[in-house]
Amino acid sequence: MSLTLEQLNSASPADAAQMLDGLYEHSPWIAEQALNERPFTSLAHLKHAMCEVLAHAGRDAQLGLIRAHPELAGKAMVSKTLTAESTNEQSKAGLTDCTPEEFAKIQKLNADYNAKFGWPFILAVRGPRGLGLSKKQIIDAFERRLFGHPDMELQECLRNIHRIAEIRLNDKFGVAPALGHQVWDWQEQLAQHSDPGFAEVGQLTVTYLTDAHRACAQRIMKNMRDCGFDEVYTDAVGNVVGRYHPATTGGKYLMTGSHYDTVRNGGKYDGRLGIFVPMACVQQLHQQAKRLPFGIEVVAFAEEEGQRYKATFLGSGALIGQFNPAWLDQQDADGITMRAAMQNAGLCIDDIPKIQRDPAQYLGFVEVHIEQGPVLNEVNIPLGVVTSINGSVRYLCEVIGTASHAGTTPMDRRRDAACAVAELALYMEQRAAQDGDSVGTIGQLQVPNGSINVVPGRCTFSLDMRAPTDAQRDALVADVMSQLNQIAERRGVRVKAELTMSADAAPSAPEWQALWERAVGALGVPLFKLPSGAGHDAMKLHEVMPQAMLFVRGENGGISHNPRESTTSDDMQLCVDAFTHVLNQLTTELS
Ligand SMILES: [Zn+2]
Repeated sequence: MSLTLEQLNSASPADAAQMLDGLYEHSPWIAEQALNERPFTSLAHLKHAMCEVLAHAGRDAQLGLIRAHPELAGKAMVSKTLTAESTNEQSKAGLTDCTPEEFAKIQKLNADYNAKFGWPFILAVRGPRGLGLSKKQIIDAFERRLFGHPDMELQECLRNIHRIAEIRLNDKFGVAPALGHQVWDWQEQLAQHSDPGFAEVGQLTVTYLTDAHRACAQRIMKNMRDCGFDEVYTDAVGNVVGRYHPATTGGKYLMTGSHYDTVRNGGKYDGRLGIFVPMACVQQLHQQAKRLPFGIEVVAFAEEEGQRYKATFLGSGALIGQFNPAWLDQQDADGITMRAAMQNAGLCIDDIPKIQRDPAQYLGFVEVHIEQGPVLNEVNIPLGVVTSINGSVRYLCEVIGTASHAGTTPMDRRRDAACAVAELALYMEQRAAQDGDSVGTIGQLQVPNGSINVVPGRCTFSLDMRAPTDAQRDALVADVMSQLNQIAERRGVRVKAELTMSADAAPSAPEWQALWERAVGALGVPLFKLPSGAGHDAMKLHEVMPQAMLFVRGENGGISHNPRESTTSDDMQLCVDAFTHVLNQLTTELS
């Protein structure tokens, strides 16, 4: 018999604690304390309450919880003294049936890990989809985390414990994130297509108009048709468009979507999550034979990452009339022009201007995206409402000093170009941190033709500065550039700085951001707002219509543009639920 939230909310404290028994290994106090927060509006609400209890319990209690866990494939498993929950999880991951070599390897990792950190390695072995990680995935995670910083590793163990509890809780309540699983599975299928050179080594790379890219378009179109979209087509730049008609003809459309191209050796969720989440919503509407007073247009953008050609945001840019014909003559690494690639794909270049949308026919644009950062992961909150896509500025700079003998030039007579840049780097680090949500990066830093025994006479470097508003960004840039000039003056070196990119911030439209805020609140998820440090397709649509984005938490410290990028099907389910809530709000507004 599965539990219900109503039963949990109305039970006596002792009975309620009994209902939640076993969620946290040998640690009933976590659920017991969380029960003080009753009544819970959702399981997400309960999960967060338990996260909060542990977050405030202090390091000793946290360590006690971690140490209450058995080793993976350890002595307790062999002697069959694991809790029932642990036995189930370890056997689902195939750990109860290791080869002698695998078993020996895991024993060694257990010993090394314990010796380094002083607690057992904790991994939610049922994984982000709940099906169980492979033994290879488990061993890889083990080996990687052995090199973690102890403070970070402690937190990573606690996050894995919360994930274990989440799955146990779902089992108790007999709930499965069915639509989250569906979205997960679509992404897994799409990740089967990868460009040559990467596919062979199991890496995901899908760049503009390659065979793998076109196979992805085909698969997305098939999925859209299966979901019940009324119109499905590929447009003149390779965007896949699915339209679900409104209740009455002439109704406006809500536009949504994200990109299906990837960076080289990227993750499976970047971009694609924002295509499949609204698809799952349309599938639901179609199954219920439901029409809304507005249509839904899901666009799978063909190109966002600028990998094969330097034409970032090509897909979403084309929808607002920003396709630059000069791009057609650009060549990829093999000398194939974009024009030839488009012709080979059967795209009609002459039609590109025709795909520009008339904003009057749209309500606005929303985009769901994996966070691509560590923030939501750290605070244990599955969804985040985006306040603004950061404005950014990039410079390529050069400091020119005097190259001189490293042995004979006294420290007080040097014109060291690299030291000047080092001083700037440290200044920018603290100046950006001062704002709280600005970022500044020197991603490229070279001493051209430098030698081990020569004081650097030249130093070239890049500057990348971003902030949620243009004013905040401009103030940061002004301070950094003025500091650069002061450093140069004091050190007697010269500076050249070339502005290579400037993009305005795209603050969320307040009423659209409020739609996401209410949706997140209705799910019982605490409201967490954050700016987007990365650029997204929504930035382009921002130029012609109101937009707002929703972020979903990434696993593994929120890493992205990396094969370890991940999120759980539970979090994806919350995303689908939030999106559905936004559709319901818009329906109410328009009725
Ligand atoms: Zn993306």
